[in-house]
Amino acid sequence: MKDTNATSIVALGGLGEVGKNMYVITHDDEIIIIDAGVMFPEIGLLGVDYVIQDVTYLKQNEKKIKGLIITHGHEDHIGGIPFLLNQVKIPKIYAPKIAKDLIVKKLEDREINYDKFEVVDNNYIINTKHFKVEFINTTHSIPDSYAVVVHTPNGTIFETGDFKFDLTPIGPVADIHKMAKIGDEGVTLLLSDSTNALVPGFSNSESVVDDTLNDIIGRHIGRVIIATFASNIYRVKHIVETCKKYNRKIIIFGRSMETSIELALNNGLITDKSMFIDANQANNFKRSELCILCTGTQGEPLAALSRIANGTHKQVSLLPDDLVIFSSSPIPGNAESINRTINKLYLKGVRVISNSEFSDVHTSGHAKLEELKWMLRIVKPKYFMPMHGEFRMLKQHTDIAKMCGIPEENTFVCSNGDVILLKNGEVSRGGTIQAGDVYVDGSRVGDVGSVVIKDRKLMSQDGILITILNINTLTRKLLIKPNVTARGFVLVNENPELMTKIEHKISEIVTNFLQNSIYNYTDLKNQIILELLPFINELTGRRPIILPVIMEVNKKED
Ligand SMILES: [Zn+2]
Ligand SMILES: [Zn+2]
Repeated sequence: MKDTNATSIVALGGLGEVGKNMYVITHDDEIIIIDAGVMFPEIGLLGVDYVIQDVTYLKQNEKKIKGLIITHGHEDHIGGIPFLLNQVKIPKIYAPKIAKDLIVKKLEDREINYDKFEVVDNNYIINTKHFKVEFINTTHSIPDSYAVVVHTPNGTIFETGDFKFDLTPIGPVADIHKMAKIGDEGVTLLLSDSTNALVPGFSNSESVVDDTLNDIIGRHIGRVIIATFASNIYRVKHIVETCKKYNRKIIIFGRSMETSIELALNNGLITDKSMFIDANQANNFKRSELCILCTGTQGEPLAALSRIANGTHKQVSLLPDDLVIFSSSPIPGNAESINRTINKLYLKGVRVISNSEFSDVHTSGHAKLEELKWMLRIVKPKYFMPMHGEFRMLKQHTDIAKMCGIPEENTFVCSNGDVILLKNGEVSRGGTIQAGDVYVDGSRVGDVGSVVIKDRKLMSQDGILITILNINTLTRKLLIKPNVTARGFVLVNENPELMTKIEHKISEIVTNFLQNSIYNYTDLKNQIILELLPFINELTGRRPIILPVIMEVNKKED
């Protein structure tokens, strides 16, 4: 190998977390980006809709960017694209067909014009000055998922994308031979999906799930309601085929489910459009001839299933002959809201089936421990870096790599921003670059800082207190007594004494300030907060957000 500069690999998202995946490979004047996902915030991040990557590095090196490569169409891989396009110029997006369709829809929804797409498949190759990129078909819980192989001047990087091994999948089987061939040719560094590294065994085949669903749907007399992940298009496809077999028409509820079905019809994954009927046609059919396919597997309060369970859905009311199937698994943190929905369904006398050891109505899209060993053995990399997971998963994944013969010193557990250097077939650490969480509130990127989050936390716990002051800035007098209102702090009407005390205190602070200091709007505001907060805290034990609103009047005479 002739002497070259090092190739660097860095994650801007995806390490230490499940979400906002983004892996960046740089060689000299070229950068390729793999995935641009989004993360949904934890409960503590009030009012934050999304968390995305800090892309300062990409902004600083914008001219080098050759393209964004997408492994598959899940939100944690494509959800950040609208925000990325608004911040950095991306000359091309290389994506599999289903992912591309989902991205186009996403950009349309946000009125972003972008059309520089290349649709990739198992045979597609990207050639740039320094890189050659190949794609390998994998199995995952959304059709059209790929591993990405990047040949660099310093060695080959194999990025698995999200994957599992399923030898009897619905849809095409993964191209295991191509994986093995690349492995045989020599892989320097493997980056592999760690989501299920802590789960022993092999994941179930999608065929097993389909058999189970087939049995349950076939045996049930009465209406069937199935909630599943909309993006699991092969599952949806199978549900449609099973319903056809048992002579049931399908009613769809939930926007993402509608989008998925439309996408599946457009791409020929589902062919019989006549299987779907409108909710208001339901009366033309017996209940045993109906299946409702909907979103809401996570107990999301506004999703179709939750409204059905609550009895607030306009078109569906439950009867005891209904059967509800959760063809899904709980996303960590959602167990409580899912249980709430299930309890409500039981209260209505409905039978509920969710995934358990007794009924395989769902299987994960991510490789479990034994499958991860398979990937390590097939690709047989010299170096290993676990990705896509919390640190406990990444750590466990390196232990699995060690079991498969990769020496500990050749494994790299990294954080977002940690640089890995590839040089002449050797891998080493190379410092860090800026990386972190950027909060998106609605469509505003980045202007919700941690201070805003802190304010929202305070407001949600201790409420807010607003005081309106009328001040004559010329005579330096308070014109009328301060007006105080509160929300989420105390009930104003039930605490007249407290409110009077607060009003007096504010008058005192303001009068003092006006007499002793040079009047300045900001200083007065700060002074009120500074003195009032400890006063209120002492009286109530609370620390509400205090918002002084000052109306200035400039009159010579009062
Ligand atoms: Zn995925
Ligand atoms: Zn993922």
